[in-house]
Amino acid sequence: MLYKPYGSTGLSVSALGFGGMRFENQEDVEGCAALVKACYDAGITYFDTAIGYGKSEERMGVAFKEMRRTRAQRPFYVATKTFSATADDVRRDCETSLKRLQVDAIDFYHVWCVLTPEAWRERKAKGVLQAFEKLQAEGLVRHICVSSHMRGREIAELLADYPFAGVLLGYSAMNFAFREAALDEAHRRGRAVVAMNPLGGGLIPQHPERFGFVRTRPDETVTEGALRLLFNDARVTVALVGLSNQKQLQEALAAVNGFQPILPERVATMRHGLRASFDSLCTGCGYCDSCPQGLPVPKLMDAYNQFALSGKPEDMAKRMNWHWGLLRSGHHLDDCTACGQCERACTQKLPIISRLKDVRDSVGKAVAAADAKV
Ligand code: SF4
Ligand code: SF4
Repeated sequence: MLYKPYGSTGLSVSALGFGGMRFENQEDVEGCAALVKACYDAGITYFDTAIGYGKSEERMGVAFKEMRRTRAQRPFYVATKTFSATADDVRRDCETSLKRLQVDAIDFYHVWCVLTPEAWRERKAKGVLQAFEKLQAEGLVRHICVSSHMRGREIAELLADYPFAGVLLGYSAMNFAFREAALDEAHRRGRAVVAMNPLGGGLIPQHPERFGFVRTRPDETVTEGALRLLFNDARVTVALVGLSNQKQLQEALAAVNGFQPILPERVATMRHGLRASFDSLCTGCGYCDSCPQGLPVPKLMDAYNQFALSGKPEDMAKRMNWHWGLLRSGHHLDDCTACGQCERACTQKLPIISRLKDVRDSVGKAVAAADAKV
């Protein structure tokens, strides 16, 4: 296992982190706890969850209760988040998380998902920082952190606005250009960077032929290549992988255990290719998924991804039909009023409305072709 300093805190954490948002089956209490414990036994020390990830905190708490017995010799660190902003709400969420996680303090407590500079100002005005600081003074929170899906420059301003110990942001071989400025700023200021979605929401392993250029050795998979690119980056503290099962854990461990430093010239070549081609895909984060007209926007943008990756317009309709079952009903594409709500929420700042038109064209052609056969 590799370990890196967590910003300026004096702590050292594993470069591979466990993301607790993708348990294969949250109802399987023992299975979830066994996965967390297997991560700990393999040397992972950074564990991330959130109050809003279903039963994730409770499931991880089952493992932490056991892991606490060896914590003095083998430390581990707990990260969780709250979207609340007022003193009462933040305290309630913190106490709920502590109880579920079965720990005395949250090591890295995040102001969760700052989507816009305006939203940040609103939360500050409600007293979110004072609420966090009070919990820290009481010993319930060790370090105050933030998670954000804003553009790199906006996150850099957020880091300038408050001395967060670390920032959690989406960063991968697919979208790094989008957040480069934030990583530079965090590094300059001695703040930790935890990179979520390091495999682009699964798209990187699903398209090994398109992402083949992240491989630096003939014997490595694109998953290993994409993760090693982050391990190699001095600005990235933790690559946070949302692990579902033991098989995925073994793949992620192979990436970290077989890591060797990558030559700077090789990194420069990869970044050039990546920047040109892959900074505009939907990562499936779901933050746009509250369309007032009922459009399943993340699914539709996933369909667009297929076209972006294959170059074939018909792949959009195929994806909607065979993967999502949305082709003839349930997509509400004609109901879009172009209100822009989804674009404002989009963590990748994608031009969703114009992409929806492309998806609609693909669907229209597919339906017409199917009707012609009848
Ligand atoms: S722009 Fe269209 S898809 Fe987006 S939220 Fe508005 S109605 Fe829904
Ligand atoms: S369209 Fe944007 S907000 Fe919606 S799922 Fe994709 S990346 Fe996330």
